[in-house]
Amino acid sequence: MKTIQLNGQALPVANIFCIGRNYHEHIRELDNAVPTEPVVFLKPTSALLAVGEDIVLPAFSNDVHYECELVVYIGRDAHNISAAEALAHVGGYAIGLDLTARDVQSAAKAQGLPWTQAKGFRGAACVSAFVAAAAVDDIQAQAFSLSVNGHTRQQGDSAQMILSVAQQIAYLSAVYGLQAGDLIYTGTPAGVGKMVAGDELHLRWPQQVEATFRVR
Ligand code: MG
Repeated sequence: MKTIQLNGQALPVANIFCIGRNYHEHIRELDNAVPTEPVVFLKPTSALLAVGEDIVLPAFSNDVHYECELVVYIGRDAHNISAAEALAHVGGYAIGLDLTARDVQSAAKAQGLPWTQAKGFRGAACVSAFVAAAAVDDIQAQAFSLSVNGHTRQQGDSAQMILSVAQQIAYLSAVYGLQAGDLIYTGTPAGVGKMVAGDELHLRWPQQVEATFRVR
């Protein structure tokens, strides 16, 4: 069973939801349209990769991208709740990587097919340890960054999200229902790019948590 770390405890993971196209500058860099409905996809729990494990690039892709994102851990079940009620259902927050086989995704998009292989391969959901929700004052005022081999590649600020964390939770709770143990990848800011074997990725959420992943 896949688990995450929160307050020194290993907690089981249920579903892994991901929100796509949630920052305007990232939408522009990939030449996508601003969504009118939330863009939601899932990763299997087998995709989860904890700190301390290396990223192994899948043989079927020549263009695996990093997407650095804040990640939500749902602490209690949420069905059809409002945005005002949403954050009370959060157990913790982390920083992670929504790894994407961009070449496979582009082919799937062109054919109108699902993104499962592009987004759900083994190790495609990297995540740091979690910090308790109570330790985060305002989840919509959080800066975070990703550097690759010491060079800053992504700088995000949750204030720039199109759908706030509370709106994401409310939406997911209405359409799918959320369960304790679910994760939500909240979308990536601009600056996504290709990783190659030997890269070292450093994810930084100041005052909260950091994580390093090596690629092989
Ligand atoms: Mg993403």
